[in-house]
Formats: sequence, structure tokens, C-alpha cells
Amino acid sequence: MFDNLSEKLERSFKLLKGQGKISEINIAETLKDVRRALLDADVNYKTAKSFTEGVKAKALGSDVLNAVQPGQMMVKIVHDELAQLMGGESVDIDISGKPAVILMAGLQGSGKTTHSGKLAHLLKNKKGKKPLLVAGDVYRPAAINQLQVLGEQIGVDVYTEEGNNDPVKLSKDGVKHAKANGHDVVIVDTAGRLAIDEQMMKEIAAIKNAVTPHEILFVVDAMTGQDAVNTAKEFNDKLNFDGVILTKLDGDTRGGAALSIRSVVEKPIKFVGMGEKMEALDVFHPSRMADRILGMGDIVSLVERAQEQYDVDEARKLQKKIAKNQFSFNDFLSQIQQIKKMGNLKDLAGMIPGMGKALKNMDFDDDAFKGIEAIIYSMTPEERENPAVLNGSRRKRIAIGSGTNIQEVNRLIKQFDDTRKVMRMMTQGKNMGRMMQNMP
Ligand code: GDP
Repeated sequence: MFDNLSEKLERSFKLLKGQGKISEINIAETLKDVRRALLDADVNYKTAKSFTEGVKAKALGSDVLNAVQPGQMMVKIVHDELAQLMGGESVDIDISGKPAVILMAGLQGSGKTTHSGKLAHLLKNKKGKKPLLVAGDVYRPAAINQLQVLGEQIGVDVYTEEGNNDPVKLSKDGVKHAKANGHDVVIVDTAGRLAIDEQMMKEIAAIKNAVTPHEILFVVDAMTGQDAVNTAKEFNDKLNFDGVILTKLDGDTRGGAALSIRSVVEKPIKFVGMGEKMEALDVFHPSRMADRILGMGDIVSLVERAQEQYDVDEARKLQKKIAKNQFSFNDFLSQIQQIKKMGNLKDLAGMIPGMGKALKNMDFDDDAFKGIEAIIYSMTPEERENPAVLNGSRRKRIAIGSGTNIQEVNRLIKQFDDTRKVMRMMTQGKNMGRMMQNMP
């Protein structure tokens, strides 16, 4: 995400970083580079201009010229201004209504249906809500079906009306149904066109009037850059929406939409979509995003994601098993599954400071664990629990069963043994000093 922008910004600070003393000219040159980097990332022209002017005023005001580490100080100023540009603080959605009605708006393909599902999943799991999804995209049977499939996957009810092609009535009925059935949140998915048209705008405005939503979320594809900002403007003029869900940030986006939307429509980005999975929805934190843009990683979000998957009882059980040297391939498998739930690997690695850039050109196979899983699935229950029995002929059978080869099987078993040893040492708290010495 935002790799090019990060790289260019880093380059612009280079000039300042190495110097003990800098001049106003240095600052002006650096800011020119920063502005160019922002424009290249498809940031709105006016936004880029006022951004660099703001940074300049702050820099001169805070006496960067006489600072001990002027480069560092500039990076800090740019960081804070970037966070400010994206809204400063994160903003919650309003789910206080009974039921709270959330209307999803946006163009076709922006990710509305996917994100209706993700939002329902998040509200159910993190806020203990009982959401109802309303399939308001009545013109496309495929969209209704897509929502039903998602609903089933996340265990959330989906309201549909066969043969009803009046989305206004359907949305109203959906809210009624929610009230009658104890749902405390209603998420109305709506139809989108490929481009804005009068008819679509009228229709969604009519739905808004009919269901008086507490929260209107505009869903927009971050990959579309400035188009995203223009579409946001049009939707906001018509709907006066409350917040934005910026989708597909896991892709190769340049950053323009994320950085310009807030200042152009004056509405906060509330969530970002980071993938196709139902878990891939993050609350938007401007300051953390600024960290990522400046190549500082985002450890806070990484830890949060890990915690979401963390089950204290399971962890305790696991610790006991490790101490008794009973950590098995089944445990290994469930650890892999937990990591997979946290998101795609490249995205996770990018949250580690400095890693994003290092990984930029590496091709990450999102299914990097596939081979490992296949090998473990080809083991018998006994072999998984007691890897000591894995002799040559068993290994051969597993290689054939998993469609891999004997070397791969050996490698995995060796890695597993090593992991087990290290884990054991860590839980015993002994030999840590020696372990550290042996680290490369
Ligand atoms: P809608 O027409 O607005 O309802 O859009 P959909 O929800 O059907 O999404 C369009 C396509 O984008 C689908 O193939 C989704 O799987 C994909 N998609 C949606 N959100 C994301 C995201 O955050 N990341 C990625 N990579 N793909 C997404």
C-alpha cells in the first residue's frame, strides 16, 4: 500500500536528514519534492498545495532551522500534518438507534456488498450486535445471492423479498422486519451503477427518506484515485453522508483517495477494506496510516489484529503443552489458521517498521501455507500428535499424499522440531542468553 509515495517521501527527507544545520532553502526544496510525491500519488492538487504550505508554516514556526535534528523534526511535522489531513482522530459510526439503520451507498463494484457483510461481521463479533442485512440491490439477482452467501458465512440474517423490485419499499420492510425480530442494527445494501446517473441518485435519496438512516456510509474503491474523490463529492452533495469506507487498500493503491477525500468532502474515512475476506475490515486511524505512509510500519494495528485472534484459554493450554514437549502438528495447524485469519501476509509484514519497503518487489503467495497444510493433512492423527513416529516410509507416504516431495516433508518436520525446541526454551525462560547469542 502506498509504496511509491512512501519511497518518494523518504527520498525527499534524505537531504535534510544527514545535515546538522539546514536552511530555509533546504526546507523549500524538500517541500517541493513532498508536493511532487503527493501529486504523483494522485492527491488532489489543491490539497497537496495547502498541505505543503501548512507544513512549511509549522516548520518555520517550530524553529526547525535551529533544531538539533532538523530532519527528524520535519518528518514528525509531516507525519502530524498527514494525520491531520486524514481527519486527525478516528471517528465511530452511530449504532445507538433501535434498530440503528446503516445505509450503504456507492458505485457498482466499489465493494458495497462485501463491506455490508464485513460490517455486519464486525458489529456482531466486536460489539455483540444482532445485525440484519437487507438486500436492496434488487436489480441484480447475483448481488442478492452474494449477500445471502456472505450472510450464511458470517451467521447473519439476510432480508430479501422475492419478486419485489422496489428498493424503497424493500428497505422499509427490512427495517420493519428487524424491529419485529429483535435485530439492533440494519445494514441496507443498495444498487450501484457503473457511473453516477440521475436515476440511481434519486433512488438512493428516496431510500434515505424512507428509512431515515442513522449512518450513511459511502463505499469507494481506493484504486480509483481522484475519481473516487469526485464520486464522493457527488454522492455527498445528494446524500450528505456520514462517513466513508475506503476499500481495496490491500491493492496497489497510490494513496490519492485516502489523502484527499477528507479535505475535499469534509467527511471522515471511518473504515478501510483490506481484502476480500470478511475479517479484512479495519477502523481507520489517521495517525497509524500516516505511520505507514512514512514507512514507519503500524505495530499497534498488528498487535490488535493478533489480539483479536488470541484466545486466552487456548493460549494457556498451548503453553502447558509446549512445556511438556507435547506441541503437536495439530497445534501447528491451528496456529497457521490463526495467522491466516489476521490478513494476507504481505499486508501483515508491511505493518512491521521498515518491512514494507523491503518487501515491495517480493511476490507474496497469499497461500504460502498451502504446502505445509497439505503435508499436515496427509498425516494420520497419531503422526500429528506424536511426530516421533515419522519414519522414512511414513514420510514417503505423506509426500505422495500431499502432492509434495520427500525433501519438503523433511524440511517441514525439521522446522517443526526446531520450533518446538525454541518454544520450549522460551517457556522455561532458560537459556535465553544463549539463544540470543546464536541469533544471526
Ligand atoms: P458492489 O458492486 O459495490 O457490491 O461490490 P462487491 O462487494 O461485489 O465487490 C466487487 C469486487 O471487489 C468483488 O470481487 C470483491 O471481492 C472485491 N472486493 C471488495 N472489497 C475488497 C477489498 O477490500 N479488497 C480487495 N482486494 N477486493 C475487494
